[in-house]
Amino acid sequence: MEMNCESCGMPMKKPEDHGAGNETLKYCKYCAPDGNLRSREVIREGWISALMNMEDITRKEAEKKVDEVMPQMPAWKEK
Ligand SMILES: [Zn+2]
Repeated sequence: MEMNCESCGMPMKKPEDHGAGNETLKYCKYCAPDGNLRSREVIREGWISALMNMEDITRKEAEKKVDEVMPQMPAWKEK
């Protein structure tokens, strides 16, 4: 069954895409490498760098995008 990471939205197609290789985990291997979700700051930082690389945009632009998308993710929804 395909799930999306509840922290970053990455599609997880194989068990190895899930944190700790646990296919029932709702987080991907980048957000929860050992099965525990990393802190919001750490994930935000990694996400910004990944965006800058993938989309070839400045840090400011990447930060703006992440700060728009991140609060909508189930793991980071503001309550
Ligand atoms: Zn993730």
